[in-house]
Amino acid sequence: GGRTPRYRRILLKLSGEALMGDSAYGIEPRVIDRIAEEIAEVHRMGVETAVVIGGGNIFRGVSAASRGMDRATADTMGMLATVMNALALQQALEKHGAVTRVQSAIDMKEVAEPYIRRRAIRHLEKGRIVIFAAGTGLPFFTTDTAAALRAAEIGAEVIMKATKVDGVYDSDPRTDPNAVRYDRVGYDEVLAKHLKVMDATAISMAREHNMSIVVFSLQERGNILKAIFGETVGTVVEG
Ligand code: UDP
Repeated sequence: GGRTPRYRRILLKLSGEALMGDSAYGIEPRVIDRIAEEIAEVHRMGVETAVVIGGGNIFRGVSAASRGMDRATADTMGMLATVMNALALQQALEKHGAVTRVQSAIDMKEVAEPYIRRRAIRHLEKGRIVIFAAGTGLPFFTTDTAAALRAAEIGAEVIMKATKVDGVYDSDPRTDPNAVRYDRVGYDEVLAKHLKVMDATAISMAREHNMSIVVFSLQERGNILKAIFGETVGTVVEG
């Protein structure tokens, strides 16, 4: 007999960086295709799957603001970048046989549905992968916060945070050879020690709604699937 997935409904957070592979900017089609293949496989296991996608591979509000741009305008551009990523992911997922909908937090009706919570849930129930684009629709927020917000709204059991690092460390593993990875860590410790997981707004929202966050690397193939079956991949953030 096959194994049963541990979760019924998940919210997967993909950073923009995950889509660029070894490039310094933009979208690498081969990378997005591989990620889409994995997501489609998880979805075929019967897991209701929603995705929040970042935009940092194209545009980041804070970086542009630090170079003199108005922050709110720069953030709006960042949100538009996430819409581009959402469309790229949508077509890659459909190539792998998944039925998908993109819902945007900024109205763009020729391109994507508007974000409507109950409609998103309906899509999930009908076996469609829902991609949430444009973050929260508000400047000064991040797509990590959008992930926690949408996860709470749709009643996801877990936030799967796919990154380039294979979990949460007590210091930066790229610069500190003695950095130790946590198997599990509490929300409060993440906040108190400023551990690099998601921003504080996202963490406190996850804590408030008791949603665990699985932090794992997308560099290794098969990690999303492992996480779905409750195998240890990376770090679990919980209460
Ligand atoms: N952004 C925003 N509000 C949101 C989500 C995103 O203003 O609710 C903007 C912000 O400028 C951010 C950019 O969109 O820098 C891209 O999102 P993010 O940096 O979260 O993407 P990631 O780091 O996941 O690639």
